[in-house]
Amino acid sequence: MKRQRVKIVIVPLGDVDYFQINKLSTTLSSRFGYSVDILQGIKIPNEAYDLIKGQYFSTMILQKLELLKATDKERILGVIEDDIYNARHHVLVSDVDAVGGTALVSLFHLKQQFYGLPDDEKLIYQRLVKEATRVVGALFSIPYCRNPKCVMYNSDEMFDIDEKSEKFCDICRRTYMKVM
Ligand SMILES: [Zn+2]
Repeated sequence: MKRQRVKIVIVPLGDVDYFQINKLSTTLSSRFGYSVDILQGIKIPNEAYDLIKGQYFSTMILQKLELLKATDKERILGVIEDDIYNARHHVLVSDVDAVGGTALVSLFHLKQQFYGLPDDEKLIYQRLVKEATRVVGALFSIPYCRNPKCVMYNSDEMFDIDEKSEKFCDICRRTYMKVM
């Protein structure tokens, strides 16, 4: 039997900027030291859409992403442009199912235009990298960090995301070295 390899798999959902996805895969690969595959984009599941909220139910999307896993060793990261929510939060930038090994990042609130500001591709990408690193880190069992400069800091507010760096602090880096 072939040995299963740990791998990060990015799944674009709906209309997503492939230029950013490609850059993201390179960044995640160097940060985590594993190869990153990009799957062909999938349609956002209609049944996850809540007509009244006008948002997608992230828990259901995470379940769909889990079905795409080829092996138990894969960590799946979905990227979506649309607005998502779950049972606990009606404003959500990302969501993680640590048991299923799946995570989802939404660009909806990361975009400047959401705040009535001009679009800033570089800033959106930085935010995407930080959120993606944090949730993939969570999939590798790195707990949230109390250091506000660390990428694993649990940043709910856009201000916190912008203030923290894209990298692990020393403690999180060592935690990751133990689990990788
Ligand atoms: Zn840290």
